[in-house]
Amino acid sequence: MDLFEYQARDLFAKHGVPVLAGEVIDTPEAAREATERLGGRSVVKAQVKVGGRGKAGGVKLAATPDEAVARATDILGMDIKGHTVHKVMIAETAPEIAEEYYVSYLLDRTNRTFLAMASVAGGMDIEEVAATTPEKLARIPVDANDGVTAAKAREIVEAARFPAEVAEQVAEILVTLWKTFVAEDALLVEVNPLAKVADGRVIALDGKVSLDANAEFRQPEHEALEDKASANPLEAAAKAKGLNYVKLDGEVGIIGNGAGLVMSTLDVVAYAGEKHSGVKPANFLDIGGGASAEVMANGLEIILGDPDVRSVFVNVFGGITACDAVANGIVQALELLEGKGEAVTKPLVVRLDGNNAELGRQILADRNHPLVERVDTMDGAADKAAELAAK
Ligand code: GDP
Ligand code: MN
Repeated sequence: MDLFEYQARDLFAKHGVPVLAGEVIDTPEAAREATERLGGRSVVKAQVKVGGRGKAGGVKLAATPDEAVARATDILGMDIKGHTVHKVMIAETAPEIAEEYYVSYLLDRTNRTFLAMASVAGGMDIEEVAATTPEKLARIPVDANDGVTAAKAREIVEAARFPAEVAEQVAEILVTLWKTFVAEDALLVEVNPLAKVADGRVIALDGKVSLDANAEFRQPEHEALEDKASANPLEAAAKAKGLNYVKLDGEVGIIGNGAGLVMSTLDVVAYAGEKHSGVKPANFLDIGGGASAEVMANGLEIILGDPDVRSVFVNVFGGITACDAVANGIVQALELLEGKGEAVTKPLVVRLDGNNAELGRQILADRNHPLVERVDTMDGAADKAAELAAK
């Protein structure tokens, strides 16, 4: 989960990384009081989960509370690289910025380690620096067990050639930033710019944090950081039901058991769709191993609730949960939905294979639901589902 800048700022503050005061607002008028609280001047910053806000005009200085209202009016509702600005942060203005640095930690999957990156050429052109003068961006592996100790921090400071007068401050920030990274189960923490300001202080002026969703179980406070307002409503409903669902932009609803099977189902449907007016998968949904009637009903409910869906492909390979159990699950799910007044109105193509496939197919045949069609091969079923969606 990627955080907004103001949320990253809050986490930095919590762990002792130096930041400036700031508060988030969502109406232009609120910018006035917020700016007054900061002493009459502020920086108005668009809160969108995308970089390059400064260059897009999403970061503006306001010398008076009135100006802050005007800048907030400009920025709220603005589109930055396809992200609409719904919130702005009103931040304390930094004393004059003398230098802009860059520091980050991230999980380096390729090298199976963590990585520190640092540069004295930070600021809005860091991507350019990384691409054209990579020697200006120091990359230091960080061992997961050792972490960033004072010695490691000094190593990073030296590798990136931070000036002597800020070396100690930057090293201290690197240690605190690592603590933030570990304590919050982050996959990325990035500070750009880490600014040296006129009075000599080094401050994190912008932060980017990405949290590891796999650590949610031990991070109860992270739930509150979710941006529920802009989440897709179907995805939110699926999440509430514990389903692994991702909305896509096609017309064929997909249910399968096992992430690998579902992924290959998406490919097969996309391929079959080429012959049927280009229909595509409408979603990813893995109902996992158990596939009880309830889970099947929940899955169908989500998928049938998607107005883009025109047909559904249920692709199940029976393993430990055999096909007869899955078939019973489908039959009961149809009844469950009917009982809730949400009877299935779109065609379902079901392919059952694997353990007890014959028995499972027989159960569906006996039920003989007018909208349920059995096709016994994956390719054949994908073709049928695409054909029905194209009708
Ligand atoms: P980004 O473009 O999305 O990375 O947004 P940043 O928060 O990094 O802001 C872009 C630029 O605005 C920074 O590189 C700074 O030069 C400048 N900036 C940000 N905060 C302040 C501030 O408090 N005072 C001043 N003078 N400039 C700031
Ligand atoms: Mn930045």
